[in-house]
Amino acid sequence: MKTLENRVALVTGSTSGIGLAMARRFALAGAEVVMNGFGDPAEIDALRESIALDSKTRVHFIPADLSKADDAQMLVKQTLAICGRIDVLVNNAGIQHVAPIHEFPDERWEAVIAINLSSAFYTSKIALPAMHQNGWGRIINIASAHGLVASVNKSAYVAAKHGIVGLTKATALENAKRGVTCNAICPGWVDTPLVRKQIVARAEAQKISVEEATRSLVGEKQPNERFVTPEQLAELALFLCSDAAANMTGSAYTMDGGWTAQ
Ligand code: NAD
Repeated sequence: MKTLENRVALVTGSTSGIGLAMARRFALAGAEVVMNGFGDPAEIDALRESIALDSKTRVHFIPADLSKADDAQMLVKQTLAICGRIDVLVNNAGIQHVAPIHEFPDERWEAVIAINLSSAFYTSKIALPAMHQNGWGRIINIASAHGLVASVNKSAYVAAKHGIVGLTKATALENAKRGVTCNAICPGWVDTPLVRKQIVARAEAQKISVEEATRSLVGEKQPNERFVTPEQLAELALFLCSDAAANMTGSAYTMDGGWTAQ
């Protein structure tokens, strides 16, 4: 069913991983989609074209470096200029840096907070008035299990993800009477480039194979010992855009194989 027909959806950080799966799923549900993120221009264009072909909807790519406030705001302004409206905003772009606080580089702290937290404030700030005009909107912030619990050596990420769960609640309350909902999704481990880097680093540090490092990384946190998939997360995001989810707002939904139940 084309539940997002006549809707415009912007997904930040959608050239890879979770965001890419969401962009694809929303397009298949009928939305006009705006993609964003880093990568090889030819590869991004091929992705954009393949999604457009499969879904038969319009798919755009707007470059923006979400570590910069101006770029984040411009991304939504350009979406409005090109598509004429914005109905769904997924704040998904994110990076990770792993180090203890006493060794954490200042520049990495600033980058993680800017991309994983502040960019969602700047995009929402521009998108909300447009959603108010239509009396309908969905903002979905991709947080993490680390938005609810902490792990060692991920101070900036944990702070940013706890922050975005708070921003989600504030956004939900401010817009509760305007037909706009805002929720966070908190995934456990998902096999994407963001996590691959951590697996390879673990394999090197512990002198074990990548397969063993994968098993120990996932099993250490997730009782079900299985990766969450980008496609499963995309289905949850699509559900949050449905009419059935109209009264779901201000919440953080986990999909984490039991990680945060412990
Ligand atoms: P990924 O590395 O596959 O994708 C990240 C995306 O963000 C890419 O498109 C990248 O180009 C984009 N990006 C990075 N920096 C950017 C910048 N400055 N400006 C614009 N775009 C930028 O990672 P992923 O695992 O798909 O992560 C997506 C989101 O999900 C992140 O917010 C991440 O924290 C969150 N998350 C991931 C996992 C996991 O296990 N992979 C778990 C929980 C939460």
